[in-house]
Amino acid sequence: MTAAIEIPIEPIATSKLKGMNLENLPFGKHFSDHMLEADFINGQWTNISIKPYAPMSLSPSLAALHYGQAIFEGIKAYKDQHSKPFIFRPYDNFLRFNASAERMQMPTVPAEVFMDGMMQLIKLDQDWIPSFPDHSLYIRPFMFSTDEMIGVRPSDTYKFMIILSPTGPYYSAPMRIWVEETYVRAVSGGVGYAKAAGNYGGAMYATAQAKLKGFDQVLWTDPIEHKYVQECGTMNVFFIIGNKAITPGLEEGTILGGVTRMSVMTLLSEMGLEVEERNLGMDEVLKAHQEGSLREVFGTGTAATISFIKELCYKGDSLCFDTDKWTVAPTLKKNLAAIREGRMPDTHGWMVPVS
Ligand SMILES: *Cc1c(COP(=O)(O)O)cnc(C)c1O
Repeated sequence: MTAAIEIPIEPIATSKLKGMNLENLPFGKHFSDHMLEADFINGQWTNISIKPYAPMSLSPSLAALHYGQAIFEGIKAYKDQHSKPFIFRPYDNFLRFNASAERMQMPTVPAEVFMDGMMQLIKLDQDWIPSFPDHSLYIRPFMFSTDEMIGVRPSDTYKFMIILSPTGPYYSAPMRIWVEETYVRAVSGGVGYAKAAGNYGGAMYATAQAKLKGFDQVLWTDPIEHKYVQECGTMNVFFIIGNKAITPGLEEGTILGGVTRMSVMTLLSEMGLEVEERNLGMDEVLKAHQEGSLREVFGTGTAATISFIKELCYKGDSLCFDTDKWTVAPTLKKNLAAIREGRMPDTHGWMVPVS
């Protein structure tokens, strides 16, 4: 990385923290004092600044609002046992952000803006990192096209921003999952591997339909046969079958390669499981369930870390699991939290100090 650039800071007059309790805040509803902003104009990043978090004024013809050139990331910062701030694997998110940018015909963001900007913003707002167990500061970098022109073409100008949201434990009760066979999230050759805004808007109808049927989320399947599992809502999915942990591979470009997924694969193999990244058909899942070798099913992602799946509804049949008897997913959840909060040694160099 090149030397850190000095980013001008316009500090907030009075911190919103005064009189505020950071315990048990709901996800994504409260924001810290400051935000980072940068503009891409004439082929370069400029106007990089940190300023008070505030509403913005945007033109009704803003390109992003019409054609969806918009991408984002989700990262978390924690405090260790000595109240020192750390960020979990931010460089992996930086690389993924730029992969999303390229797929959406947007400019990449240099490390001096993304990484150094994030560091300086968090350093300034580090008092916003809650130090209660299972709490964190959620970091949301995002970029959108800003040309004021309603023609369908890549924008010439873009805005990159980072906002911060303190968040409490993301209690997710074990989920009931609808295996989706009508609607699809991603196809090979599409944008499924990118954290592009439209992927999430496009998934909401199917998710709402599943909720009407009493389920919490959908398990997406492949667009051709509706047979191979993809992802569970906005989480990667793992199946523990016998001594194997199986998760769909990334080569088809339909899966969002999660940083949690990567970390969980490492921890699983350290726990002595055989990790396989490959196509997994629902027929194989059903067979394993009938034979009694399907032990655990769970989702992984930054927001909830590990979410247990207690039921899979497929073609009218329910596969149910007694999550109280599980050992793998609860251990993963516990160890990941301990590493992040500095209660367990970080042997992989995942925790990057804010400096
Ligand atoms: C963000 C995301 C994930 C999880 O990625 P993490 O880096 O672990 O947070 C998985 N699937 C989808 C569709 C996502 O958007």
